[in-house]
Amino acid sequence: MSATADTPETDGIRITGARENNLKDVSLTLPKNKITVFTGVSGSGKSSIVFDTIAVEAQRQLNGTFPAFIRNQLPKYERPRADAVENLTAPVIVDQKPVGGNARSTVGTMTDIYSMIRALFARYGSPTDGLVSTYSFNDPRGMCPECDGLGQSVRADVDLMLDKSKSLNEGAIRLPNYSVGTPDWQLYGNSGKLDPDKRLADYTADEWQLFLHGSGFKVELKTKSGAYKTNYEGVVDRFTRLGVKRDLSTVSERTREAIAKFITEGPCTSCDGARLNPTALATKIDGRNIADWSSMQITDLIAVLAAITDPVATPLATAARTALDRVAAIGLGYLSLDRATSTLSGGESQRLKLVRHLGSTLTGMTYIFDEPSVGLHPRDVGRLNDLLRALRDQGNTVLVVEHDPDVIAIADHVVDVGPKAGANGGEIVYQGTVAGLRTADTRTGEGLRRAVRTKTTFRTPTGTLPVRDATLHNLKNVSVDVPTGVLTSVTGVAGSGKSTLIAEVFVKTHEGTVYVDQSAIAASSRSTPATYLGLMDPIRTLFAKSTGTAASLFSFNSEGACPECQGRGVIITELAYMDPVTTHCDACEGRRFKDEVLSHKLRGKSIADVLELTAEEATTFFTEAPLRRKLRSLIEVGLDYLTLGQPLSTLSGGERQRIKLATQLTATGTVYVLDEPTTGLHMSDVDTLLTLLNTLVDKGNTVIVIEHNLDVIQQSDWIIDLGPDGGKQGGEIIFTGTPADLLTTAESLTAEHLRHYRA
Ligand code: ADP
Ligand code: ADP
Ligand code: ZN
Ligand code: ZN
Repeated sequence: MSATADTPETDGIRITGARENNLKDVSLTLPKNKITVFTGVSGSGKSSIVFDTIAVEAQRQLNGTFPAFIRNQLPKYERPRADAVENLTAPVIVDQKPVGGNARSTVGTMTDIYSMIRALFARYGSPTDGLVSTYSFNDPRGMCPECDGLGQSVRADVDLMLDKSKSLNEGAIRLPNYSVGTPDWQLYGNSGKLDPDKRLADYTADEWQLFLHGSGFKVELKTKSGAYKTNYEGVVDRFTRLGVKRDLSTVSERTREAIAKFITEGPCTSCDGARLNPTALATKIDGRNIADWSSMQITDLIAVLAAITDPVATPLATAARTALDRVAAIGLGYLSLDRATSTLSGGESQRLKLVRHLGSTLTGMTYIFDEPSVGLHPRDVGRLNDLLRALRDQGNTVLVVEHDPDVIAIADHVVDVGPKAGANGGEIVYQGTVAGLRTADTRTGEGLRRAVRTKTTFRTPTGTLPVRDATLHNLKNVSVDVPTGVLTSVTGVAGSGKSTLIAEVFVKTHEGTVYVDQSAIAASSRSTPATYLGLMDPIRTLFAKSTGTAASLFSFNSEGACPECQGRGVIITELAYMDPVTTHCDACEGRRFKDEVLSHKLRGKSIADVLELTAEEATTFFTEAPLRRKLRSLIEVGLDYLTLGQPLSTLSGGERQRIKLATQLTATGTVYVLDEPTTGLHMSDVDTLLTLLNTLVDKGNTVIVIEHNLDVIQQSDWIIDLGPDGGKQGGEIIFTGTPADLLTTAESLTAEHLRHYRA
């Protein structure tokens, strides 16, 4: 056989017999140095191929190239279930996992741009005798000593702790354990220096100071077991010592929650959030210190750097500018370098991770993306495409899981997975060019051919919920009336202020609002859709009744659980400094239960068999009405393909949001807020979602979505469009009205793209 360049069969990444999750013996070859886009309905098996097979094997092979002593410190990857995965190159996985909750990580540190700015200050700032590390808030020589470089500090909130309209005897101290008469209360009530019947509001300045921060005398406390004397300590100092400064990991969840109610977090009072000590902040370039630079919007910082002409500084300034240009090019120019990465959305995190690689000159890598268009307005998708092409043209292989037709359009090669989800998916239903996909007889082909549907009649709102003069983040005194009883889409480019206005200001000012976000579900590693929806109790009862055993036997938290993995089905190994590694449990083969438990059957199935049923299959297996009702809610939110026993930790952000929504469907008169609910949804799944949202509205609820998906936007009753651009250039309401009016009258980026889409 003669191998010619560019022949995928010989030169590509070869996968043979892949069987992870729902994959049905999938074999395929992917061309190198090309962009391959993986399409298909949610749950069809795209991630199982790209992440669970290709990425895992590539990491495993890469780790195998290191010497043993390094290898021992790397996460262990299990060989994916496949006959062979060959001809791989080193992987770079750019996913939507948050960049890390580490409070020391900022946009500047994560992109390394902050170190360039530090170098610039060290060489060029005045005074010029500083060391580079003096400007690092992660270095003891540079950090603010008050907040240790975190910029934030937590403190007791006096207004929350105390009710000034009351006296001590009336219960002015709101802290837990300080109710009238308790020993903690007596420290003040029996001090002899504070009148227990005087309202706190009437205290003199001296009394107030003594109450909050006094010390230096003793007070006699009376308890059941007798009286004793103890040192007086002001109420704020005492709560700070015992509540705020205490290592909260040592107290119970309940105590922690009780304490948290009286603590506020805010900018450090010493450095005002700048994170650095006064010496570091004294150095300036053109009148601005490094904290001023860091808090500037990136697009503005680029202009500041461009103005630097000094020959000493120019090379450093140019390097920093090039890096910042890349951040702006990917549509993140509205961020600032001091922005904590823990506050970034999944889409922002992914794009920022991408920036790290754009400057690199490495070639011959395999870049792997998970729906990179998430959170992007159609305007910014064009920029994203340019970057994906740039990676390819630099000599890399680019693999992308995507639903957005505009991203699919740039593929050199498409792999369409289907035909449906879960057990009805797991096959390659099409591979080839995008043109071919457009004529293919698959769900994706159909989706791409589908005519644009327009809505002509819009529901009449039943009322409005106001937001007045909002100024959080970039909002410019925004006032808007959000209509009730209809489906509203909040639109605008990334950074325009949609989440700030809706997920923060609106949600906080209108109590009772249900905000269904994509964040992780706080749950144990044993949680599954069955436990989350409360299906396990009725299922266990059914097993117990039918087999004459104890219901508890069928719980993977109890005696029936596999002792090797404690009912998790996998062994979780915690590693210092790294993500924990999970490996298959050989004892129960992932079935979570002891063999004895599995011998008890309900209608021919063991508990493990039942947990392997998809939600859809389970609705036929179970005839009991309450169970079926809950299962139907999973189907209604488009999660029919999930098995009852799939660990919640393996769900994507979009799936998490939909399962949360599934527990909420019975309400009426509720206001729902959803942040990009189409995340992870195929074009045909978007229809299911729209049906669901419309059902919610028809039941008398209000639904507000933050969306970029043009189908959802034009199927809404009302649009609130923010802009005109991101960051400082955003924060204004550009348009409110029906989609029909947006199309015909509005001057906005959203209107422009909607017109283009319909053309
Ligand atoms: P896609 O990426 O196309 O949305 P996935 O590859 O994530 O689909 O999922 C394919 C099927 O495998 C689905 O039925 C899903 O529920 C199942 N699945 C995915 N991850 C796991 C897992 N870790 N354990 C069990 N089942 C899984
Ligand atoms: P959108 O939802 O439209 O993408 P956001 O509401 O997330 O926009 O952001 C609007 C502006 O507010 C941006 O300039 C963004 O950087 C800023 N911003 C958002 N969240 C925070 C935060 N937690 N801290 C500081 N600035 C923020
Ligand atoms: Zn500080
Ligand atoms: Zn086990």
